Amino acid sequence: MVYLLHFDQPYKHAKHYLGWASDLDARVAEHGHAHGARLISVIAEHGITWRLARTRPGTRHRERQLKRQGGKSRLCPLCGITPCPATVRGRSTP
Ligand SMILES: [Zn+2]
Repeated sequence: MVYLLHFDQPYKHAKHYLGWASDLDARVAEHGHAHGARLISVIAEHGITWRLARTRPGTRHRERQLKRQGGKSRLCPLCGITPCPATVRGRSTP
Protein backbone atom coordinates (compact mmCIF):
# COMPACT_ATOMS: atom_id res chain seq x y z
CA MET A 1 0.00 0.00 0.00
CA VAL A 2 1.11 3.54 -0.76
CA TYR A 3 -0.21 5.98 1.81
CA LEU A 4 -0.27 9.74 2.21
CA LEU A 5 -0.21 11.46 5.60
CA HIS A 6 -1.50 15.03 5.76
CA PHE A 7 -0.02 17.29 8.47
CA ASP A 8 -2.52 19.59 10.16
CA GLN A 9 0.17 22.30 10.16
CA PRO A 10 3.08 22.48 7.76
CA TYR A 11 6.51 21.64 9.11
CA LYS A 12 9.07 23.74 7.21
CA HIS A 13 8.43 22.86 3.58
CA ALA A 14 6.66 19.63 4.40
CA LYS A 15 2.91 19.27 4.52
CA HIS A 16 2.71 15.62 3.62
CA TYR A 17 4.46 12.36 4.03
CA LEU A 18 4.25 9.73 1.38
CA GLY A 19 5.15 6.24 2.44
CA TRP A 20 4.78 2.64 1.59
CA ALA A 21 3.85 -0.30 3.76
CA SER A 22 2.90 -3.88 3.16
CA ASP A 23 0.80 -3.78 6.32
CA LEU A 24 -0.66 -0.30 6.59
CA ASP A 25 -2.38 -0.67 9.95
CA ALA A 26 0.83 -1.78 11.62
CA ARG A 27 2.81 0.97 9.91
CA VAL A 28 0.42 3.76 10.95
CA ALA A 29 0.40 2.38 14.48
CA GLU A 30 4.19 2.66 14.41
CA HIS A 31 3.94 6.31 13.32
CA GLY A 32 1.42 6.91 16.08
CA HIS A 33 4.00 5.71 18.56
CA ALA A 34 6.73 7.80 16.98
CA HIS A 35 8.80 4.80 15.97
CA GLY A 36 7.99 5.28 12.32
CA ALA A 37 9.55 7.62 9.84
CA ARG A 38 11.95 10.23 11.17
CA LEU A 39 9.85 13.10 9.81
CA ILE A 40 6.78 11.87 11.63
CA SER A 41 8.54 11.80 14.98
CA VAL A 42 9.98 15.28 14.31
CA ILE A 43 6.58 16.81 13.61
CA ALA A 44 5.14 15.04 16.63
CA GLU A 45 7.84 16.72 18.75
CA HIS A 46 6.58 20.05 17.38
CA GLY A 47 3.05 19.21 18.41
CA ILE A 48 1.84 18.84 14.86
CA THR A 49 -0.84 16.26 14.34
CA TRP A 50 -1.40 14.40 11.11
CA ARG A 51 -4.11 12.41 9.43
CA LEU A 52 -4.10 9.53 7.04
CA ALA A 53 -5.31 11.29 3.91
CA ARG A 54 -5.26 8.56 1.35
CA THR A 55 -4.23 5.02 0.68
CA ARG A 56 -3.96 3.21 -2.59
CA PRO A 57 -2.69 -0.16 -3.63
CA GLY A 58 0.83 0.12 -4.93
CA THR A 59 4.39 -1.03 -4.74
CA ARG A 60 7.53 0.60 -3.39
CA HIS A 61 8.32 1.44 -6.99
CA ARG A 62 5.04 3.40 -7.21
CA GLU A 63 5.90 5.24 -3.98
CA ARG A 64 9.23 6.39 -5.47
CA GLN A 65 7.47 7.41 -8.68
CA LEU A 66 4.99 9.58 -6.78
CA LYS A 67 7.77 11.10 -4.67
CA ARG A 68 9.67 12.08 -7.80
CA GLN A 69 6.54 13.69 -9.26
CA GLY A 70 6.15 15.97 -6.25
CA GLY A 71 3.03 18.06 -5.77
CA LYS A 72 1.73 15.77 -3.09
CA SER A 73 -1.07 18.17 -2.19
CA ARG A 74 -2.65 17.36 -5.54
CA LEU A 75 -2.96 13.78 -4.36
CA CYS A 76 -4.42 14.81 -1.03
CA PRO A 77 -8.21 14.87 -0.60
CA LEU A 78 -7.83 16.83 2.65
CA CYS A 79 -6.06 19.64 0.80
CA GLY A 80 -8.73 19.45 -1.89
CA ILE A 81 -11.43 20.17 0.68
CA THR A 82 -9.73 23.31 2.02
CA PRO A 83 -7.46 24.31 -0.86
CA CYS A 84 -4.81 26.95 -0.47
CA PRO A 85 -4.19 29.33 -3.41
CA ALA A 86 -1.29 27.27 -4.70
CA THR A 87 -3.46 24.19 -5.07
CA VAL A 88 -6.46 26.06 -6.50
CA ARG A 89 -4.50 27.38 -9.46
CA GLY A 90 -5.04 25.29 -12.57
CA ARG A 91 -7.56 23.08 -10.89
CA SER A 92 -11.09 22.72 -12.16
CA THR A 93 -13.66 21.74 -9.58
CA PRO A 94 -16.23 19.35 -10.94
ZN1 LIG B 1 -3.01 17.47 2.40
